Amino acid sequence: MRTKLSYTHLMQYTTSLEYPWDNHPEPGSTREIVPGVRWLSMPMPGSLAHINLYLLEDEHGWWVIDTGLSMDSVNQWWQKIFDHELNGQPVIGVICTHFHPDHIGQAAMITQHFKCPLYMTRSEYYQARAFSGGGSNHHASWLSKDFYTRAGMSPQYMDELAEMWASRNADNMVMPEMPAGYERLEDGQTLEIGAYQWQIVIGSGHSPEHACLYCPALKIMISGDQILPIITSNVSVHPSEPNANPLKDWMDSHNELLTTPEDTLVLPAHNLPFYGIRQRLRELISHHEERMLAIEQACIEPKVAKDLLPVLFQRKLDSRQMMMALGEAIAHLHLLMDRQRIQRTLGEDGCYHFSTVHSDFNQHSPTDTHSAPTQQPAIN
Ligand SMILES: [Zn+2]
Repeated sequence: MRTKLSYTHLMQYTTSLEYPWDNHPEPGSTREIVPGVRWLSMPMPGSLAHINLYLLEDEHGWWVIDTGLSMDSVNQWWQKIFDHELNGQPVIGVICTHFHPDHIGQAAMITQHFKCPLYMTRSEYYQARAFSGGGSNHHASWLSKDFYTRAGMSPQYMDELAEMWASRNADNMVMPEMPAGYERLEDGQTLEIGAYQWQIVIGSGHSPEHACLYCPALKIMISGDQILPIITSNVSVHPSEPNANPLKDWMDSHNELLTTPEDTLVLPAHNLPFYGIRQRLRELISHHEERMLAIEQACIEPKVAKDLLPVLFQRKLDSRQMMMALGEAIAHLHLLMDRQRIQRTLGEDGCYHFSTVHSDFNQHSPTDTHSAPTQQPAIN
């Protein structure tokens, strides 16, 4: 297993999935997946390079799934799409899978341009509203200081983090203004778009209430960041909810998604469309189980969260990557605490110390019943 840290998503994983296309559509153009379903991609800075967006054709217009970052260049590519790729029809609805800036960046622009509604789940819409317009620099708060101190980080790191957050504007990762209202998406709901029914399938862990769209007739799932073929989505604990257990939500969501038929074509927000959804979900479940085993092994001698970064990540991390890596490490620790495999004590040094509860971790098989780890944990 190779591991590599990337921009907003953390781990790279070798797979043998089937990819019907080997490249992305050129910006400003669209590519037909099947009649009525089109794929476009918008540029992103950093190693992700692209976000995939999708268009669904209805009787009198198009639905847009995810929108790209709020950069001027993305806005310009959209104008080209409006002019040349929609057969003279308007956009009649915008669906954002979740609140991250690469997904909602142009939601206000498109809904304003066509006076059409935005569709999101409630948690995602209000999270986007809370962060929109840049939000406050919460890395300067006492909550954030407590969080990072308990993880073993230095005061100097917290200054770096506050500075990094302030510079997000320069990277176009700032949250744009959101439309003033929305239409709510809920799990199990069906949208009729053209001749097809699209079911809303909610997942959690990467973001609070992430919407996927699944069409049984076409055997297509638009998966957003909930299922990605090569990189794995960031699943982190943040100072805003320091005792959250997002990895539990993530694993539960993956177990539920395993009921999706294996011959489903997955249209993800990053990397390329692929077949092999169940294989990929099993790999992702195994990946996190392996990392938890590595943590259990490392915590035979008590550790603070910071000490676990070299256990989980191979390369040197800059302050932003460090924040995400730490959030991921803590997410794994919290699920292990929930499973009563790891215990946490607050030391006199102000740090949380994590220690392995059972010394039989080598014989212990993961609670996940779908796959046992087949490879050694990534310990470096
Ligand atoms: Zn995301």
